[in-house]
Amino acid sequence: MDSPHPRPDRKAAGPELESGSHVAVIGGGPAGSFFSYFLLDGAQRIDIDVHVDLFEPRDFVLPAPLGCNMCGGIMSESLVQMLAVEGINLPSTVVQRGIDSYVLHTDIGSARIDTPLHEKRIAAVHRGSGPRDIKKIKWASLDGYLQGLAVEKGARLVRERVDGFSWQDGRPQIKTRGGSPVAYDFVAVAVGVNSGVLKLFQGLVPGYQPPRATKTFICEFQLGSETIERYLGSSMHVFLLNMPRLEFAAIIPKGDYVTVCLLGDDL
Ligand SMILES: Cc1cc2nc3c(=O)[nH]c(=O)nc-3n(C[C@H](O)[C@H](O)[C@H](O)COP(=O)(O)OP(=O)(O)OC[C@H]3O[C@@H](n4cnc5c(N)ncnc54)[C@H](O)[C@@H]3O)c2cc1C
Repeated sequence: MDSPHPRPDRKAAGPELESGSHVAVIGGGPAGSFFSYFLLDGAQRIDIDVHVDLFEPRDFVLPAPLGCNMCGGIMSESLVQMLAVEGINLPSTVVQRGIDSYVLHTDIGSARIDTPLHEKRIAAVHRGSGPRDIKKIKWASLDGYLQGLAVEKGARLVRERVDGFSWQDGRPQIKTRGGSPVAYDFVAVAVGVNSGVLKLFQGLVPGYQPPRATKTFICEFQLGSETIERYLGSSMHVFLLNMPRLEFAAIIPKGDYVTVCLLGDDL
């Protein structure tokens, strides 16, 4: 019996991009924005003209979960440095607090791990524009900033959710709600682990298995910058406690808020 979704013909699709190739990137979080940025950057360096459509329905300018991909918001020193090597320096509008140490709390005591030169090279950021109750937006979204870099490089931002994927004559094609399928030369999927769209690829992409995921709790508390400075300073606090079901907890100081993350079974 003929499959309703014929397997891709790699030869016909052509694994190499060339001038005029069209690329779709599904998901404009950090992975999608970095992929778009570095693909366009690489293409410009070898003088080929690649078109990138970056599909992202979320507007990172909006506060609250609507405009936020939610995470602890810590950018490690190595990541900050790797980006700097690529000429990407996080602006002060995005970095709410420089972090210079991790304080590790266990059942038998606490230990402080400082950065080697006590420099505040770890960045604490918000992924969106701030929590639900924010009165005045003082800092910019990390995801919004990275997406801006991709757009400046030449990506076309499409504010739509992709809800269909299929193969047409060996080429991948995607569809947004109410739209018709559009074929591309290459599709990059960067939708994170929570997107329903991942189910689309099961059975359509050989060998694809959706990632396993567990629940986390994440919340912002407004303490004010003075209180944060006094009690937490520029340290991220990590808790590895022997408590049932709790695997990991962290308190991350930002500008006026702290982010609390809990990870474990059935939280
Ligand atoms: C509780 C918690 C705390 C964390 N803390 C940290 C931390 O402190 N530091 C750190 O470095 N990492 C942290 N992480 C990990 C970090 O969140 C991920 O590594 C990162 O978000 C992955 O980026 P991404 O772009 O792959 O996916 P995401 O950030 O999930 O972005 C995916 C994007 O795809 C879009 N999308 C989804 N479906 C579709 C669709 N159908 N069509 C179009 N777009 C779609 C979404 O709107 C979203 O913008 C944490 C994670 C959790 C759960």
